[in-house]
Amino acid sequence: MLIESVVLKMTIIYKKSVVGRRGVTLPKCDVPTKSVIPEKFLRKTDTGLPELSELDVVRHFTGLSRRNYGLDTNFYPLGSCTMKYNPKVAEKIAALGGFADLHPLLPQLRNGGALTQGALAVVYELEQMLNEICGMSAFTLQPMAGAHGELTAMMMIAAYHRKKGNRKNVVLIPDEAHGTNPASAAIAGFEVRTIPTNPETGALDVEALRAHVDEHTAALMLTNPNTLGLFNADIGRVSDIVHAVDAQLYYDGANLNAVLGKFRPGDANFDAVHVNLHKTFATPHGGGGPGSGPVGVRKHLEEFLPVSRVVKRTDGTLALDYDYPESIGYIAPFYGNFGVCLKAYAYILLLGRQGLIDVSENAVLNANYVMHSLKDHFDIPYVNRPCMHECVLTAAKQTTNGVHALDVAKGLIDRGYHPPTIYFPLIVKEALMIEPTETESRETLDGFIAAMKDIADKAASDPDSLHKAPVTTPVSRLDETRAARSMDLIYKE
Ligand SMILES: *Cc1c(COP(=O)(O)O)cnc(C)c1O
Repeated sequence: MLIESVVLKMTIIYKKSVVGRRGVTLPKCDVPTKSVIPEKFLRKTDTGLPELSELDVVRHFTGLSRRNYGLDTNFYPLGSCTMKYNPKVAEKIAALGGFADLHPLLPQLRNGGALTQGALAVVYELEQMLNEICGMSAFTLQPMAGAHGELTAMMMIAAYHRKKGNRKNVVLIPDEAHGTNPASAAIAGFEVRTIPTNPETGALDVEALRAHVDEHTAALMLTNPNTLGLFNADIGRVSDIVHAVDAQLYYDGANLNAVLGKFRPGDANFDAVHVNLHKTFATPHGGGGPGSGPVGVRKHLEEFLPVSRVVKRTDGTLALDYDYPESIGYIAPFYGNFGVCLKAYAYILLLGRQGLIDVSENAVLNANYVMHSLKDHFDIPYVNRPCMHECVLTAAKQTTNGVHALDVAKGLIDRGYHPPTIYFPLIVKEALMIEPTETESRETLDGFIAAMKDIADKAASDPDSLHKAPVTTPVSRLDETRAARSMDLIYKE
């Protein structure tokens, strides 16, 4: 109680300022001083910055950090986001001076070119690695998020049809897809049509697809495993239907964590793919930090890739090449989020071939363990069959007592866990989408499962306790709509 009130009493750092208090004091200067800054640029008034000791500052920011929740604090099963632990060694490598201090305008070859060859090699080699992992023939690392990758690929597909004189303006997207898919297709100028999910299989309805495909179909965007965490085994038939009208098959690879080393989109005739380096390959996802959504394509789409591209010259040196007349052009400043690519490069080398296979096997095992352990306490929508890297449960059973997915999520906060994704995919009522990832131990999963079972029990015996949750946080339930619509960012006491 007392400890909690200290946390609650946290105020802004300016309120803690005491006139004259210092973090560092220097001895009195015993030589004449002379400012090199011209008089007219010198500040006339005080900066108004808080005056504090070093300890005040450390306690202030440590206190703030304790109000935050991250992977470094505890389990974070936010479905679809792959909130897995990212090894610190990858961060360390990305911070190496030889990479981190490079200026993006350094010359590539002469006069300092040696400095950039290492960075160019990382781009070149990571593209090759992603080609191998996805079964594609060329990659660009430039897109700066998954959605940006989707848009890049949709623009390339538009360029492909334009060049062939195809009059195609429709992109088909399953109803369980991530919301970025229709947004990307629409921004690239396509009309979007939705394909329903088959209730028997929990995957794209192949007959409905067949009915929708015609000469106007430009592409099908597919996530496999889909956002229900289920693998679409009909992919061969889907590919035949789509390709019969020269439409392109697009793979949303944000869920690649489930299939690393097991399934290559290129082998299943996908024409273009994006992967999320910030989910699958060692960069924390979420919080608006930098991301990376590289796009891979098969041979026939290669000429449309954005510029620049890293090429190997005959003398073995690497250079940026801009000479691609059919390219869709620039989609990002410089070379994308290089630091994120570098972390992915380090991560792939760190794990190696078998390590990447272990990632997906353990991610799938963990998700099935959670699903199996909770199947008597929560409903499972669609078919009850093994899932891939995430499982979707629902709070449908709990709604008879007035407890909804939101209450389950808030109850988890009081039990020390970040909630799973809720109310997504949209086609599942009261959805709870749990993605444990491969980096969690059996003990952590058991703790989470126990918390979920406790919540299911409370939903039956004391539903009101869940309506009040969370009660252990500095602030309890917020009016989330009002928080977004009428933002108040000014500190008041
Ligand atoms: C996360 C995700 C995206 C979008 O990726 P961003 O980097 O957030 O833009 C697209 N599709 C699926 C299936 C995802 O999980």
